[in-house]
Amino acid sequence: MLNIVLFGPPGAGKGTQSEKIIDRYTLVHIATGDLFRRHLGEGSELGKLAQGFMDEGKLVPDEVVIGMVEDKIKENLDAKGFIFDGFPRTINQADALDNMLNEHQLIISGMVALVVPHEELRVRIKERAKTSGRVDDQDDKKISKRIEVYEEETSPVAGHYKEQAKYNSINGVGSISDIFNQITSVIDSFKD
Ligand code: ADP
Repeated sequence: MLNIVLFGPPGAGKGTQSEKIIDRYTLVHIATGDLFRRHLGEGSELGKLAQGFMDEGKLVPDEVVIGMVEDKIKENLDAKGFIFDGFPRTINQADALDNMLNEHQLIISGMVALVVPHEELRVRIKERAKTSGRVDDQDDKKISKRIEVYEEETSPVAGHYKEQAKYNSINGVGSISDIFNQITSVIDSFKD
């Protein structure tokens, strides 16, 4: 299996690039933010639980996220591979992901990290706010909170993959197709 962690701060372009990566490599998309928003739309208990955290730009508790991801992995063990988007966002989640995959004799092939300056992230999120309908995209304070949470809780996750020699960074500023080309040359170097 080809199992990729697509990493980067909010607004880095993970969603945009994920769609293209999935098309190219036929992977199952596990995007935790999208999954929560779907639950929210359906009015499920999980959605209600996640909503308060999401609206404030905070992380949903690890055990909730990990359980949701585990279900998705188990449902798709016949897939060609997975792309994890917005997960893992804490070291605890990264450890849990390694363990969950290990149970099925699977591993992460590599991480692709999109690097984008904070000021550019703000511009992109504000632009997205016009159409996303997302509460967490709407004001400066919420955007700042998400970037702060990213720096404090999520950026150390890169170190987890550096230790395993699976970290690859890509400049996330440029045209969508140029960035995609860089991503595919990294992915093509992964052994699956
Ligand atoms: P973005 O990366 O653009 O901020 P996402 O759609 O990935 O947006 O996530 C939106 C929100 O969903 C996060 O701010 C957080 O509240 C919640 N969330 C998503 N993934 C996780 C995760 N792995 N751990 C905890 N919370 C998460």
